[in-house]
Amino acid sequence: MEDEEEIEGLLQTMSDVWGSEEQANAELRKQAASHNTNLFSGKLPQVDVCVVPRWMLSGPLGSGSDAAASYNPAYENRAAQIFLGQSVILSKERARLILAHELIHHWEQTISTESDSNSYPAEIDTMIKQWFPENKNESRWRSAHSHRFLARAHLVSVEHGLELSLLLSGRKSSVGGERPGWVS
Ligand SMILES: [Zn+2]
Repeated sequence: MEDEEEIEGLLQTMSDVWGSEEQANAELRKQAASHNTNLFSGKLPQVDVCVVPRWMLSGPLGSGSDAAASYNPAYENRAAQIFLGQSVILSKERARLILAHELIHHWEQTISTESDSNSYPAEIDTMIKQWFPENKNESRWRSAHSHRFLARAHLVSVEHGLELSLLLSGRKSSVGGERPGWVS
C-alpha cells in the first residue's frame, strides 16, 4: 500500500511540475542530451534517465529515504541508467543540477582515456566536511566521489555556472536547513 502511494506521489509531481508523466520523461531526456553536448562535448555514450520510487535508489549512504538519485553503469546488454527520485524532480532547476551530477559519474565510468586533472580547490574538502559534522558517512560519500570526479565537478561548476554545493550533493552549502535527500 505504501508503495502504491509513493508511485501516486511520483505521478502527481510529474504532472504538477512538468505537465505530465510523458512530458517529464521527455524533458529529462532532453536535458541529459543537452548536458552531454554542453558539458561533455557530446562524448558520453547512451544513458537512460528514469524517474523511480525510493526503493529503487541506492547510494554510498545506503538506499531508502536518504537517497535522491543514483547512477548504474551499463551491464551486459543494458545501457547505463540514471535513476531520479521524487525529491529531484520537485523543480526543474534541481533536476538540471542533479542530472549533471549523475552524468559526471557516467563520464567517469565511461571516458577513461582523457588526461584529466585530479586537483581541485581545498575549499571543496572543507565544504564536504561541513556536510558531515559528526564525521559519519563522510568516508562512504568520499569513496563514491573520487578526486577526478570532484575536479570535473568543479570545472563544470565554474565553466557553466552550476552552483557547486548543489551540483555535488544536491543540497545548499549552508549547514542544517533543508534536507532534500542525498545525491549519490
Ligand atoms: Zn554522486
